[in-house]
Amino acid sequence: MENCIFCNIIAGEIPSCKVYEDDQVLAFLDISQTTKGHTLLVPKEHVRNVLEMSEDTAATLFARLPKLARALKKATGAPAMNIINNNEELAGQTVFHAHIHLVPRYHDNDGIEIKYTTHEPDFEVLGKMAEQISREIQS
Ligand code: 5GP
Ligand code: ZN
Repeated sequence: MENCIFCNIIAGEIPSCKVYEDDQVLAFLDISQTTKGHTLLVPKEHVRNVLEMSEDTAATLFARLPKLARALKKATGAPAMNIINNNEELAGQTVFHAHIHLVPRYHDNDGIEIKYTTHEPDFEVLGKMAEQISREIQS
């Protein structure tokens, strides 16, 4: 896609620090370097995000993660890593070409805070929600 920054990177029209490339995916260093080694993994096919991704593209993209994550861990010496994917603006997506963040973690006061608020579970509500999702998967 013409004015997609990641398509431009894939096409080599914008420079990037490439980490891994094959005919279907590209991994390169994120320009923001949230932590040292922060890497993005993208499908070469232009797709907005996981919500619009085919199973085949997802299978290929996600299959590349473990090897890339292990290599990044070894290269940086980071003992831990967050693997994050944002879908749509409300969830923090700013570039609308699907990508997975690999963020090496070095210590617990590195400025990154990933917090999930917990709520008292209402099992009746949970049950209904599970049923609803399950129905959508089958339809
Ligand atoms: P999002 O917020 O959509 O999940 O993540 C987009 C990421 O793309 C951000 O972390 C941002 O730093 C990165 N990014 C945006 N433009 C460029 C660019 O031109 N080059 C590289 N390497 N990363 C970019
Ligand atoms: Zn694109």
